[in-house]
Amino acid sequence: MFKKILVANRGEIALRIQRACRELGIQAVMVYSEADREAKYVKLAEEAVCIGPAQSALSYLNMPAIISAAEVTDAEAIHPGYGFLSENADFAERVEKSGFQFIGPTPESIRMMGDKVSAKQAMIKAGVPCVPGSEGELPDDPVQIRRIAKAVGYPVIIKAAGGGGGRGMRVVHTEAALLNAVTMTKAEAGAAFGNPAVYLEKFLQNPRHIEIQILADKYKNAVYLGERDCSMQRRHQKILEEAPAPGIARRLIERLGDRCVAACKKIGYRGAGTFEFLYEDGEFYFIEMNTRVQVEHPVTEMITGVDIVKTQIMVAAGEKLPFTQRQIGIRGHAIECRVNAEDPFKFIPSPGRITMWHAPGGPGVRVDSHVYTNYFVPSNYDSMIGKIIVHGDTREEALARMRSALGETVVEGINTNIALHRELMVDAKFMAGGTNIHYLEEWLVQHKR
Ligand code: ADP
Repeated sequence: MFKKILVANRGEIALRIQRACRELGIQAVMVYSEADREAKYVKLAEEAVCIGPAQSALSYLNMPAIISAAEVTDAEAIHPGYGFLSENADFAERVEKSGFQFIGPTPESIRMMGDKVSAKQAMIKAGVPCVPGSEGELPDDPVQIRRIAKAVGYPVIIKAAGGGGGRGMRVVHTEAALLNAVTMTKAEAGAAFGNPAVYLEKFLQNPRHIEIQILADKYKNAVYLGERDCSMQRRHQKILEEAPAPGIARRLIERLGDRCVAACKKIGYRGAGTFEFLYEDGEFYFIEMNTRVQVEHPVTEMITGVDIVKTQIMVAAGEKLPFTQRQIGIRGHAIECRVNAEDPFKFIPSPGRITMWHAPGGPGVRVDSHVYTNYFVPSNYDSMIGKIIVHGDTREEALARMRSALGETVVEGINTNIALHRELMVDAKFMAGGTNIHYLEEWLVQHKR
């Protein structure tokens, strides 16, 4: 096992990784920007290194600064968390070339999954169900483009191979709009992602977002840890997640999970990863794979009892997965609410000093947050300041626990979206379960929020 790991991230996930290291008896070196000097995990750290000014480009995205921090502190491995450099294949490569273990998959796996065309091709080969569409990149010939779209059937969506974060996509309803949409998406993709390649998919009208968490070691052992339902989104950003997904038959999940595990073995995937799917009319369609730990990993930890972050570290150190698929059980139901520093209904960011922070507690309640009373939320980063996660024997119990937990939570000095979560937890359709990816946006319009 490693003696020392460098945590190349900030916020709640930096604290989460620090906690995992402590439990494993590993020293965690924390890095921070000048804006994060006051963070709890920096104050609690045995060792912390300032890697630059507030701007991410000069600190959390600054590869040489992060690698030098690992060098001067004698760390053996680097955990990238999520966001920032976590899915940057060049970073993973530089980390390994500098003699450190990258806590994540190989640079080749990251690269393959980072290009959505090659990811989809790999999935088709591995027998994972995908959205029907162009086989690979769209050709230049307008006749061929029209033929492909017609065969798939309108509406279709044009997506950038290098896209991410919900950008680089365009829905097309009629043939008349097709070629122009392809040209525009290509131009945008070239400018935004440095790769003008686009592909075409059938546009699903009312899907749910269901994802499968997997863990794999270096010896081709892999398991899936059930699914998560992340359909409650605004502008393609998840705001709350739950596991299991309400109303989906276990045998469908098991079949899908088995396919994901087989795909991991086939591509030699290692570490934690998530296969994201759209789910409509009883069918799953792969959209992308995330090659890192995700914000919503705690709901899976709560229903399986598996510590995903500790397992990431263990497999990176060369250990075998400590469990087999048969040993993974699903117990009860978990829900996570992301707490964002923003106006709850207008979504305007609300950074600043937290004058009062009171976190909820009690049975089945977990809070992953780096903030505290008198903490200053910097304006330079993502607005998420923490996550409230609850577990119950049933979905109803989890909902009741979340209502109670949200009721206890006090955050003063800044605005948060807790008021939104409180309303959603008593919304009849959400309570019934199975809302689709458009539900939250429609709800916001209907409630004139
Ligand atoms: P990104 O990497 O930018 O997040 P994804 O491929 O994961 O891109 O897609 C993001 C979101 O776009 C999905 O969660 C879904 O809401 C929508 N989307 C993507 N592909 C389709 C599709 N074929 N049909 C309908 N919606 C889609």
